[in-house]
Amino acid sequence: MHGRPIPGNYLFEAVKDLEAIVMAANARIALVIPGILRAARDLDSAVILELAKSECDLDGGYTGLTPETFAAECKKAAKQVGWDIWALHADHLPVKKGSQEEMDKLKALIDAQIKAGYTSFAVDASFLFDLQGKTVADQLKKNIECTTHMVKWLQQRMGKTPFGLEVEVGEVGWKDQHGMIITKPEEATTFVKALNANGVFPHVLATSNGSTHGNLYDDRGMPIEQLSIDLPRTLEIAQALERLGQKVRIAQHGVTGTPRHLIATQFPKKYISKANVGTFWMNLVYDVFKVCEPGLYQDIWDWTLKAYGGEARKKGMKSDVEVFGKYGKFAIKEFFTRIYSVRQSTKDTIEAVAYSEARIFMTAFNSQGSAAAVRKLMTK
Ligand SMILES: [Zn+2]
Repeated sequence: MHGRPIPGNYLFEAVKDLEAIVMAANARIALVIPGILRAARDLDSAVILELAKSECDLDGGYTGLTPETFAAECKKAAKQVGWDIWALHADHLPVKKGSQEEMDKLKALIDAQIKAGYTSFAVDASFLFDLQGKTVADQLKKNIECTTHMVKWLQQRMGKTPFGLEVEVGEVGWKDQHGMIITKPEEATTFVKALNANGVFPHVLATSNGSTHGNLYDDRGMPIEQLSIDLPRTLEIAQALERLGQKVRIAQHGVTGTPRHLIATQFPKKYISKANVGTFWMNLVYDVFKVCEPGLYQDIWDWTLKAYGGEARKKGMKSDVEVFGKYGKFAIKEFFTRIYSVRQSTKDTIEAVAYSEARIFMTAFNSQGSAAAVRKLMTK
């Protein structure tokens, strides 16, 4: 077993018509990776490992990991565990202004990701939605232009090597004074049709469908479950795309906090092909630290409250639990050396908990056995 990831397109093409969702785990703390891959192996489930630009860039993002070091952690674990059906994905490559300078910087990051062996990419220009536009096409014009520009460049860079492609039409978690702004089917179809006309054929599409990235709290600052994903609208979008003869499926972002029995019983698994689970894995590590490394946990807690408490309270956050839940991610880089040099028994506990939690996700996503479909497609 060499430990290398497979091209993401094979994975997406193979699960497209399965009643299965592939978990994409943002492993901000790489100690969870072996457990996730072992669960994938034992359930014969395809899986994606990913980090967004904010989490992992040439300077280490807020996790302290670069494309090179993250890829190395993933490959090392895949080799050790003996698991082959996984893709290495670049989550949220954001284009927020659309300037040449911004896109050139992003290209330098993508070059490093390609060099590190990434096999799938998410170009996210959803922020460029123009509320002043008169038609849907006008509103999406800048997103379409920038997504096309970036993907064309990516195609050139990848040459003959196939890769997975995710694009984004509505910014995840987008809100106005009336609440969440949910993507309309017409926006999704207009976007994908325009991209196709430009020679860009995404495998999965991220929308704004009521989820939020990260942990959720009520107005007293108490943690709550996420029950806000608009599944009927998600299905409408996916089916509108299908009626157009589109092969593109939905990428569901912000799954942390969604009760898994609801995922198991209510998610439309044919139409959602990829589900991103990020913050969950960080929470898991911190929860293990609470018991196994109480000194380290206390230091991480204190540092976060000291560094971000003031800012968070100004934003109206009501409890320390909420401040830690929202800002604790920024402690990962600060405590990088201590986090990665915890005792072996702590690492083993993280591995075991990550394994069992990944099994629950993969069962809820119904992705057991999906790796066989990927293998079959790859040997065709
Ligand atoms: Zn996301």
